[in-house]
Amino acid sequence: MNSIQLVDLSTQYKRIENEVNDAILQVVKSGNFIGGPEVKTFADNLARKVGVKHVIPCANGTDALQIALMACDLQPGDEVITPSYTYIATAEVIALLNLKPVFIEVNENNFTLDVDQLENVITSKTKAIIPVHLYGQCANMERVLEFAKKHNLFVIEDTAQAINTTYTFSDGTTKTAGTIGTIGTTSFFPSKNLGAFGDAGAIFTNDDELAVKIKMVANHGQKIKYHHELIGCNSRLDTIQAAVLDVKLKYLDEYIKSRQDAADFYNSHLNAISELQTPFVESYSNHTYHQYTMVLKTPELRDGLMEFLKLNGVPCNIYYPIPIHKQKGFQKFEVNTDLSKTEDLCSRVLSLPMHTELAEDQLEYIVNKVKEFF
Ligand SMILES: *Cc1c(COP(=O)(O)O)cnc(C)c1O
Repeated sequence: MNSIQLVDLSTQYKRIENEVNDAILQVVKSGNFIGGPEVKTFADNLARKVGVKHVIPCANGTDALQIALMACDLQPGDEVITPSYTYIATAEVIALLNLKPVFIEVNENNFTLDVDQLENVITSKTKAIIPVHLYGQCANMERVLEFAKKHNLFVIEDTAQAINTTYTFSDGTTKTAGTIGTIGTTSFFPSKNLGAFGDAGAIFTNDDELAVKIKMVANHGQKIKYHHELIGCNSRLDTIQAAVLDVKLKYLDEYIKSRQDAADFYNSHLNAISELQTPFVESYSNHTYHQYTMVLKTPELRDGLMEFLKLNGVPCNIYYPIPIHKQKGFQKFEVNTDLSKTEDLCSRVLSLPMHTELAEDQLEYIVNKVKEFF
């Protein structure tokens, strides 16, 4: 058995080595390192893949969130609702733009925002909501959209962990994550489900006017070179990264299937263990397993299992050990709502190795070690 990785990008690379090397070399030979034709090709192919009118590529998933918020023209002090149980980037960009993050509780089943709490955190200053499709499963978007419509809010979907996850509305129609709200943002950080060979990100929208604005914001606030109509930033997708991503996009379905197969294997062996809860999949979303995250019965069991697995050559990790409202840098934002479920979850979650290259013997070894611990 090969040693188990938390994320195995080198084996994944070997499968597409020639194809991806050719694509990179093509860019190097052309010298078009910024804004080469590969950027538009990838954006068009991705738009077709996820089913959205506009894909605006940018430098990373954090920039994507920031640009999305900038394009909504929010004013300092405006409030943006987002879960505290997420990666720091989601809340960081809100704070960075002098907006106020208003944290909301998540459901313990699916780790996405608890839509029943939305009415408790709304104020006259609330202007936007950022649902996070955490670990590869969509938040309850139908309820989010209803709430947003009622209160006239922008909906920015943080799709960094859920590219091409399918959401099903109660009338049976389906859409993919990031194409449901006003704007969707995603990340192609190497370990994400569609990963570049460095930093990369993208913004989705079906709104023509917003698409123009987003493009301008990402490009120094200009439509015409040297005519800066608004204050923007500089956030571009490298041509080399676009070339890599365009190759990997063809394998996205395969990559997602591999993750789902690994998750099915974990589930079939771990479901019976009463001290842990395996991932729950909602009827309104499929799961693309950016992470396979379990909830242990107690913090002691979580810490004990993690130590035991690591000692036995099974890397595992906690996403995320500290909720954002408990982070030192975020103490200036007061919290008026109960986030005890979030705090509790952070003390009991554990994610097993999850990537596209997990071999059967590795999976067997991992589940046997988990069983051995209990
Ligand atoms: C990875 C991630 C981001 C940020 O993406 P970067 O490309 O690393 O900037 C934002 N939100 C979530 C939920 C993420 O997982």
